[in-house]
Amino acid sequence: MGGSHPCRLQTMWKQPLSDDSYADTVRRVELLASFGAELLRFAVPDIETAQLLCKLQGEVSIPLVADIHFDHTLALACLENVPKIRINPGNIGSEEKIREVVEKAAAKGAAIRVGVNAGSLPRKMRGEIDIALAMLHAAEEELEILERVGFGNVLFSLKSSDIKTTVRANELFAERYDYPLHLGVTEAGPPIQGVVKNTAALVPLLEKGIGSTIRVSLSGACEDELIAGREIIAAAGLGSRGVNIVSCPRCGRAGFDVHGFIERAQGRLLALDTPITVAIMGCVVNGPEEARHADVGITGSGRKALIFRSGAIVRRVDDGEAETAFFEEVEKLCRERKGQR
Ligand code: SF4
Repeated sequence: MGGSHPCRLQTMWKQPLSDDSYADTVRRVELLASFGAELLRFAVPDIETAQLLCKLQGEVSIPLVADIHFDHTLALACLENVPKIRINPGNIGSEEKIREVVEKAAAKGAAIRVGVNAGSLPRKMRGEIDIALAMLHAAEEELEILERVGFGNVLFSLKSSDIKTTVRANELFAERYDYPLHLGVTEAGPPIQGVVKNTAALVPLLEKGIGSTIRVSLSGACEDELIAGREIIAAAGLGSRGVNIVSCPRCGRAGFDVHGFIERAQGRLLALDTPITVAIMGCVVNGPEEARHADVGITGSGRKALIFRSGAIVRRVDDGEAETAFFEEVEKLCRERKGQR
C-alpha cells in the first residue's frame, strides 16, 4: 500500500470470529475476495479470536488485519501470522508495551494502522471547535510515539461521520506527511446514505492523490461495502476492476423484468474479474442503443429479449432463456479477453 501502488479496497468482518462457523468463514472470505476485497479487517477482543485469526490467515488468499484496542498482548498474538494490525499506541499503555509490539511488527514485516476517529478523540481534545485540526493533532501524538520507538511501517486513518471534517482532516494530514492514508467516512449510516456520504468525501480526496486504501462503512453487508468501494475508486478515475453495469431504471415501457434480472445477475457479474461493460435495458426505446455500446447487452423487445455483442444483435431469445443466454455471451467474452491477455 502507498506510493505508486493502486488504491486498495477493504471491508470489515461483521460477526464475532468463531470456531463453530470456521469453515463457512473461510468460504465467505474467499467470496468477499471475489467481490474485490484486497484486505479484510477483524475485531480482536480476546486471545481465542487472535489465535483463530492467525489460523485463518494461513488458509485464505487475502491479507487480514487485526483491529485491537488497549491490550497489547492481543497484538503480539496476532502478529504471529497477521500482516497488519490496527492499534493506537496511545491507548495500549506504557512505552515498554509499545516497544514490544513494534519490535515484533518489525521482525515480522507487519504494518500498523493508527486510526483517529472524531468520535473518540483524546479527552483533552474533546470540545475543540475545529474537529479536523484536533484529529490531525491526535494523529500527530500517535506518530510521535511511533517515531520515538523508531517504527515507520505505518499508515493512518482520520475518520469522521461528517463529510467535510473527513475531507479536511485528511487534507491537513496529507499536506504535512507522506505516510499512506486509509480513507473512509465512519458510521456513515444505512446503505443509501452511507454510499452518498463516502462518495462525496472519498472521490475528491482520491482525485487529489490522497488515499492508499478505502473502506465504505455501511450498516449493511460487506458485499455492498465492496461494490460501493469499487465504484468510488472507478469514479475517481483510478481504474476499474471487473464488470461495469449499465442498466435502465425501468418505466412503464419495459417489456422485460430489468430489476429482477439485475437482482439475480448482479452477484455473478461482480464476481467476474474481466473489465467489461454490460448493459441491461428494459425496452427498445433506449435499450438497443445502450446495449450496442456495451460489450454485452440485453434489452427487452416485446416478449423476446435481444442480446448484443459489441453493437451487433447475436441472439433473440424468449424471456425464460434470457439469463442463460446472456451469461453464455458474457462468459464467452471473458474467456476471449483472458485468451488475448
Ligand atoms: S430503457 Fe425503456 S424501459 Fe428502461 S427506462 Fe428507458 S424507456 Fe423505460
